[in-house]
Amino acid sequence: MKLSALHLLLTYQCNLECDHCFVWGSPWQDGTMTLRDIRQVLRQARDLGTIERIYFEGGEPFLYYPVLLHGIQEAAGMGFQVGVVTNGYWSTEVEDALEWLRPLAGLVQDLSVSSDLYHWSEKLSRQAETARRAAEKLNIPAGVISVAQPEAADSVSPSGQLPVGESGVMYRGRAAEKLVEQACLHSWKQFAECPYENLREPGRLHLDPLGNLHICQGISLGNVFRTPLSQICEKYDADAHPITGPLLAGGPAELVRRYGLEHREGYAGACHLCDQARRSLRGRFPDILMPDQMYGVVSQS
Ligand code: SF4
Repeated sequence: MKLSALHLLLTYQCNLECDHCFVWGSPWQDGTMTLRDIRQVLRQARDLGTIERIYFEGGEPFLYYPVLLHGIQEAAGMGFQVGVVTNGYWSTEVEDALEWLRPLAGLVQDLSVSSDLYHWSEKLSRQAETARRAAEKLNIPAGVISVAQPEAADSVSPSGQLPVGESGVMYRGRAAEKLVEQACLHSWKQFAECPYENLREPGRLHLDPLGNLHICQGISLGNVFRTPLSQICEKYDADAHPITGPLLAGGPAELVRRYGLEHREGYAGACHLCDQARRSLRGRFPDILMPDQMYGVVSQS
């Protein structure tokens, strides 16, 4: 495995609770990286020798602004290119947004602002537009991440094309619970491959606040606070892995066949079937299909 990017989920917490969120971000989620965690992770990323880019995302990373800022400074100081993904809640006016973004200038090469009808009441939110204008003044490259509504791919055109600049909703995480009713269902048998992740040779992985390294959200390859990142990457055998092995052999449908899982006839997409299959396998693979946060279980403490 040759990783070129590591995406740090700085926190599972978010000020919003979007229906399509595949990490189940919400104000009630638990788990945030400390500065000590970030330093340890950055050292491991440097030691690996192949990682060029570090992303800070969440949840909403600007909720922990001083920690985010220190993390960005340290990552940039170690020579990584740095990206940040945010919903832009903090971007109320250009003058104010400039204050939030000024310390990031020269350190961040990609500021991605999520804006669509899940996050806000307009596709291009006032927050995203304000953040873009402030970033432009500070020469911070900025863009918008936008996810289409569930019915868009079926209704926009006969070919099912999405509007320019939008990506399709992935029915995993909260989307698998909240959005499938609006989607067309298809036979489970047709989901014979993972359409989104390179499970054999991932170029990037997500690291959550608890140290879990995810090849797709909720499929952990190991914990970097217990095993160094380099060892986890070296030992990963995609075909022998109990979850990625079947997924590579025949997609989410193969997960169902391999483990003899109960299933319905129709699912909204490959991720929907994968999400449901993985849920029913959590008891069998508790060290892989975790943590609770990725499956919408909110800590009571
Ligand atoms: S099919 Fe499964 S592994 Fe692939 S992107 Fe969807 S949820 Fe992730």
